[in-house]
Amino acid sequence: MNYALVTGGSRGIGRAVCVRLASQGFAILINYVSNEQKARETAELVAQAGGQAELLKFDVANAEETAAVLGGWMQAHPDDFIEVLVNNAGIRRDGLLIWTEPEDWHKVVNTTLDGFYNVTRPLLQPMLLKKRGRIINVASLSGLKGMQGQTNYSAAKGGLIAATKALAQEVGRKKVTVNAIAPGFVKTDMVDGLDEAALKKDIPLQRFGEPEEVAALIGFLASPDAAYITGECISINGGLYS
Ligand code: NAP
Repeated sequence: MNYALVTGGSRGIGRAVCVRLASQGFAILINYVSNEQKARETAELVAQAGGQAELLKFDVANAEETAAVLGGWMQAHPDDFIEVLVNNAGIRRDGLLIWTEPEDWHKVVNTTLDGFYNVTRPLLQPMLLKKRGRIINVASLSGLKGMQGQTNYSAAKGGLIAATKALAQEVGRKKVTVNAIAPGFVKTDMVDGLDEAALKKDIPLQRFGEPEEVAALIGFLASPDAAYITGECISINGGLYS
């Protein structure tokens, strides 16, 4: 069976990605860190889309926990293959750098960058052996442009984009592709509290994006049609920044 693992699949963009990839025929592994109820709801949506899903609870920033859960899953599924990895789990803890406490720096950077490393490394070996695999990293416009009040988040996402480009060069000859996407504002819990009416005036398409629109891009990158795209970071931001 071919699986797709979506980190942070319980809510928002990750949830829409789970449903999308299920509709493309992948069995889905829904990772989450704390929100079991929401993860179950995502599994239900996957089932409604005709797919199958399994929950995998672990904190992507925690190396031991991630290794134990992923190692356990792989041991229990010797004939199954995680062909698609979507590194989507992410958080923001905004504030000017001058006021940013160490915890808010490390938490944001570690969730994105340690998360990328902790999850990608164990899944890479089977991909290289099979000469097949897709790794899709959810970065952000902040990682391309830099956003004030988000120095921690911009550093994390910028690092993720650079890691995408480096890893793509390492694994291309084994037919594994590695790409990033950089969304602008997307309607999820993460943008709760932002002034959408004011912010959308600066967006050429005059609205925030929908999680399903981001999921469609990720679905494309996971599809056979995207076989010749690697090392890219594709923006999806309504024209806000290019
Ligand atoms: P969201 O609605 O806040 O959902 C975040 C997801 O990440 C949840 O499923 C959460 O799990 C999971 N998560 C957080 N920390 C985790 C950890 N340490 N280990 C495992 N899972 C963890 O966020 P979203 O808006 O969908 O964002 C998804 C990705 O898109 C993030 O990387 C974000 O930076 C990026 N992004 C979002 C926007 C936007 O405007 N929304 C724009 C650009 C980029 P629980 O449910 O268990 O908490």
